[in-house]
Amino acid sequence: MSVPNRPKVLIVGAGLGGITLGILLELAGVPYDIYERSACATPMGSSIALGCNVRRIFEQIGVWEEFVKLSKPTFAMNISNQQRERICQFDFRGQEE
Ligand SMILES: Cc1cc2nc3c(=O)[nH]c(=O)nc-3n(C[C@H](O)[C@H](O)[C@H](O)COP(=O)(O)OP(=O)(O)OC[C@H]3O[C@@H](n4cnc5c(N)ncnc54)[C@H](O)[C@@H]3O)c2cc1C
Repeated sequence: MSVPNRPKVLIVGAGLGGITLGILLELAGVPYDIYERSACATPMGSSIALGCNVRRIFEQIGVWEEFVKLSKPTFAMNISNQQRERICQFDFRGQEE
């Protein structure tokens, strides 16, 4: 739904920030255009890790339930060097909520 007399928002970049802003503006009925310099999206890797602070924005844009279904909870994360030797670990146990 479009609201009259609202200026159009121009978003430069269709990354996570630009796409999220576009969804929020769509939900708010604010007109917008997204300009992206890349002609196509390329895969970054096999997985991404997201902190719990994304929950509110994912709920707001209506993708939280689907995201949870597709996700696997992680209670520890190892950071390794190129020789696959562990150089540090984040331990999230006890913070499940
Ligand atoms: C290898 C790698 C792994 C990562 N893994 C994780 C992870 O596991 N979890 C996590 O939370 N974060 C991860 N990140 C970080 C995450 O990708 C960034 O924080 C996030 O993408 C930032 O979003 P953004 O929208 O600000 O910018 P970007 O996603 O970088 O999007 C910017 C967009 O703007 C476009 N653009 C730039 N200049 C112009 C222009 N002049 N005109 C038009 N378009 C333009 C670019 O092409 C791009 O599509 C990772 C990053 C990298 C590089």
